[in-house]
Amino acid sequence: MGGRVLSVTSECVPLIKTGGLADVAGALPAALAPLGWDMRTLLPAYPGLIDKLGAATEVWADSDLFGGPACVLLGQIGGAAIMLLDAPHLFARAGGPYGNPHDFGDNPQRFAAFSWVAAQISAGGTTDGWTPDIVHCHDWQAGFAPAYMDLCVETQAKSVVTIHNIAFRGEAPAAALGSLRLPIEAFHRDSLEYWGNLSSLKAGLAHADAITTVSPTYADELMRHEFGFGLEGLLQYRAADFHGILNGVDETVWDPQTDPHIAKTYGKASLAKKQHNRTALMAEFGLATCEGPLAVVVSRLTDQKGMDLLVAAIPDFIAAGGCLAVLGSGDPQIENDLKSLAKAHPGRIGLLIGYDEALSHRMFAGGDAVLVPSRFEPCGLTQLYGLRYGCVPVVALTGGLADTVINATPMALQDKAATGLQFHPIDALAFGQVLMRLVALYSDKKTWTGLQKKGMSQALGWQTSASAYAELYEGLTV
Ligand code: ADP
Repeated sequence: MGGRVLSVTSECVPLIKTGGLADVAGALPAALAPLGWDMRTLLPAYPGLIDKLGAATEVWADSDLFGGPACVLLGQIGGAAIMLLDAPHLFARAGGPYGNPHDFGDNPQRFAAFSWVAAQISAGGTTDGWTPDIVHCHDWQAGFAPAYMDLCVETQAKSVVTIHNIAFRGEAPAAALGSLRLPIEAFHRDSLEYWGNLSSLKAGLAHADAITTVSPTYADELMRHEFGFGLEGLLQYRAADFHGILNGVDETVWDPQTDPHIAKTYGKASLAKKQHNRTALMAEFGLATCEGPLAVVVSRLTDQKGMDLLVAAIPDFIAAGGCLAVLGSGDPQIENDLKSLAKAHPGRIGLLIGYDEALSHRMFAGGDAVLVPSRFEPCGLTQLYGLRYGCVPVVALTGGLADTVINATPMALQDKAATGLQFHPIDALAFGQVLMRLVALYSDKKTWTGLQKKGMSQALGWQTSASAYAELYEGLTV
């Protein structure tokens, strides 16, 4: 079978990325093409994106899209069909996609407009004769699309919403409804209303034909009060249409055997060469020799990511012989705490505040272990990159981290099944204890190498997940 899918996303590598959503949206088209699904990706034309698209054709236009003229430009990037929504009054702004640095006040209108266009294309197609069978909406930015499809246009297309992180729900005051082209009668709890406000994600979850999230464990967690942010009841109600499909990694981009960003390429059979990358990374972070494990963190520096737990637990790890290199940015308080820690432990803790894709590759290649102490983690990608690069993941037992790492219990080690370390409950004490286990395991070279190699042998590509998405699409279009 197969058909056409419009992927509606605010982020997509290699064009624009603030988090894992971009990696997933970037990988899906190539993963689904062999299964017969022709996917086009619709993105807002943030500054500079049209130049990156190169030769493009206009395939949709409107003289008044929420207050200004707009068109959709179709081009190709790395073999994928990209459609950019060029609406300068909404998207041609300095700063990040969502703010500069605080959220733009008109985000509800900006992303409602984006979702509106997706719904229009689902109904009337593009001028080159392409009409989707499925509209696959990612996160809150595309959340209103299924509501427009259900309430405002005539379309045959089915809608899917994927929750990449329920912490972001696209909330807006109820008063914004009048400016969003949505019917006022739909402001009730089975449609647009989210505890007295509007939420674009909630609207998507209420109106989509199917809902997915990015790991089976996170799907279970989202139906519970502690994780659901008040949407657990709706997700329980929709349980029959709600699926957890694990993310994959792009194995062509994340491969230590071919990675152009790292000091020396290596594989499972030439793991000793990883040492060159370790030495280079230590030099890059100004670290002195490290007898214990060199732990790395590549992350948003936020509470969700458990970065306050890192701050609390790391001094004992350093005292036990470990070293740490951190790349990230985020909460100013956590940034400051990490700066103080780095100052207090010169040569043992290196910190780079910022975002650097190439350096992130060098960190997995050079690190012995990647630390992911997230309080919740829908899927998580850095533990997957760690597995690929023999950089053993040390993770909290939650969400996708629970689904992708096999804990080094005595039994799992004996069976040679273990791929990393997990800890629970998610607090500083348990994290500190797992770091001590890390130090002990690292000193047992034979066991350690076994752990690295087992991780590197895991199948982490997109094939399995792509088949699950294809099956879902097929179920919706028969
Ligand atoms: P989230 O999307 O919640 O931030 P994920 O683990 O799903 O978390 O995805 C984060 C992605 O962003 C990964 O590809 C990770 O390598 C990357 N990343 C995070 N922080 C940085 C950084 N400072 N520099 C480079 N890449 C980063």
